[in-house]
Amino acid sequence: MKKEEKKTDVIINEAEAEVEKAPEQKEEVKEPAKKTTKKTTAKKTTAKKTTTKKTTAKKATAKKAAEEPAVEEKVEKAVEPEPVVEVTPEPEVPQSPRRSVVFIGSECYPFVKSGGLGDVMYALPRELARQNCDVKVIIPRYKCIPWEYQEKMVYRGAFDMDLCSDGRRFYVGIMEYVHDGVVYDFIDNEEFFSSGNPYTSIIDDIPKFCYFGKAALAALLYMDWIPDVIHCHDWQAGLVPIYLREKFADTKLANSRSIITIHNLRFQGIYNIDTIQYWSGLPDYVFNKDHLKQAYQDANMFKGGLAYADMITTVSRTYAGEIQTPFFGENLDAHLRYHSGKLRGIVNGIDVDTWDPATDPMLYEHYDISNVIEKKRVNKQKLQEEVGLEQDDGKIVLGLISRLTNQKGLDLINAIIPELIDGNTQIVVLGSGDPQYEDSFRYYEYTYKGTISSSIMYDETRAHHIYAGADALLVPSLFEPCGLTQLNAMRYGTIPIVRETGGLKDTVEPYNEFENTGNGFTFDRYETGLLLDAINRAKTVFFTDRIRWDEMVQRDMAKDVSWAKSATEYKNLYLELTPR
Ligand code: ADP
Repeated sequence: MKKEEKKTDVIINEAEAEVEKAPEQKEEVKEPAKKTTKKTTAKKTTAKKTTTKKTTAKKATAKKAAEEPAVEEKVEKAVEPEPVVEVTPEPEVPQSPRRSVVFIGSECYPFVKSGGLGDVMYALPRELARQNCDVKVIIPRYKCIPWEYQEKMVYRGAFDMDLCSDGRRFYVGIMEYVHDGVVYDFIDNEEFFSSGNPYTSIIDDIPKFCYFGKAALAALLYMDWIPDVIHCHDWQAGLVPIYLREKFADTKLANSRSIITIHNLRFQGIYNIDTIQYWSGLPDYVFNKDHLKQAYQDANMFKGGLAYADMITTVSRTYAGEIQTPFFGENLDAHLRYHSGKLRGIVNGIDVDTWDPATDPMLYEHYDISNVIEKKRVNKQKLQEEVGLEQDDGKIVLGLISRLTNQKGLDLINAIIPELIDGNTQIVVLGSGDPQYEDSFRYYEYTYKGTISSSIMYDETRAHHIYAGADALLVPSLFEPCGLTQLNAMRYGTIPIVRETGGLKDTVEPYNEFENTGNGFTFDRYETGLLLDAINRAKTVFFTDRIRWDEMVQRDMAKDVSWAKSATEYKNLYLELTPR
């Protein structure tokens, strides 16, 4: 205890010393935002000019055409070939009113990522910054954040904060990193964030995220950065909306509105009431059945956050409906039905700058929509070589990139693998997770050497190689709030084979052989026979009608999977919550 007090004294001194530094840093923060606005205006002007020019040119052509109809028609036909695929025009960046928003969550690529949450925490703020938002992201400063980022962080200040119900206080350090118009603030505390992995066991995670939620709000006050909207992500930030109303109501943050986004309802931060009450320091009355209390003795951090937030969003429209039913609701379906008036579904996008086969530094061979068919072949051969598959362009390569958990439909895949192996099919797996799935994929690699490859690990580079080299990607999830792998796959011209659930249903249009439309192959009920059927339908097109297959590859690459549209929906939500 003595040691702790001593530490606190030093910290306070450091913090005071740093306060003067703060405004200087603020300037730095504003700079990129200004630049963005300029860029946008410039873009707009150019766009306007181009449109005017085009219109004038078109008018002139039309006039000429009226004079010499026959000749002009021929020329036009010769110059403008039939477009193979519909290319989506670059979305207009709307100049809606400026709002400030802070993202509070437990992961953010490229610092720390275990799944889709990390991707969203990276890509959405960047897009919002482009759409006239002042954006800050607050995540824990985990020890596992690569040194290349740790060394670029700037010390922004420190203070101590009361947390527990017995008044126990903790150090809160703020480290800052500014990149691409977004300010990243890392909450620093060795006691909570020094283990290698962001998530250890629920016993450690409960105190960790009680601390993190309150520290994030306290850090905003310390930096005097008062956002219009506080956007919380998943259960790890579940206490933030509660702290905001119960502990920060008399501060400058009182007028900030809160949104909580459900990325995956399966994880909720449930533990006994005594422990959560002790660590959070929250009053008795919030531990009632409509807010934090769950069953008899437990408290549920996500449930409390959902009740207290001004708005709830989740990552696809279909999942927003599904979670209000018992099967998908993870015991919170009734709670969500009760709060359905403030629940919205906004589908995720991907960062199309990072995920761009034309520039992706990890790829063996770059390609775009015009040369995808030949260049993908090169990537396929290199992938086969890299993962130990027989190098044969004639075989269909099915990819799987996934956390290995029962959410991802791995039971279905495991059950049908022997039936898939027909001499013309290869499977490449990348993932880690439950030992039962890790072992079964190892077994299949051993049994079908050269035909099945299992990389039981987390590896960004290999993931990119699979997206670029595979012909199709399997995503037969039991449930999938949004799913990003099918979006990455489409961006890289790899055909998704998915179950019609959550975001998979919202983003993959089934192939229609009569109209030659669609982006992938889908099935509805969670049954092995239906997955097998979907894969066989894909194989039939691949092996018997390659032109149709290649057209679908191009259609997928042309599909707009960027964040632009969805970020606008979030922005509109912010505006709706903070009318002026
Ligand atoms: P979830 O968030 O449920 O894990 P998503 O489909 O939303 O699933 O996001 C998964 C993200 O993590 C994708 O960007 C995918 O490429 C990546 N990913 C998943 N497993 C691996 C792995 N083993 N190695 C590299 N990247 C992976």
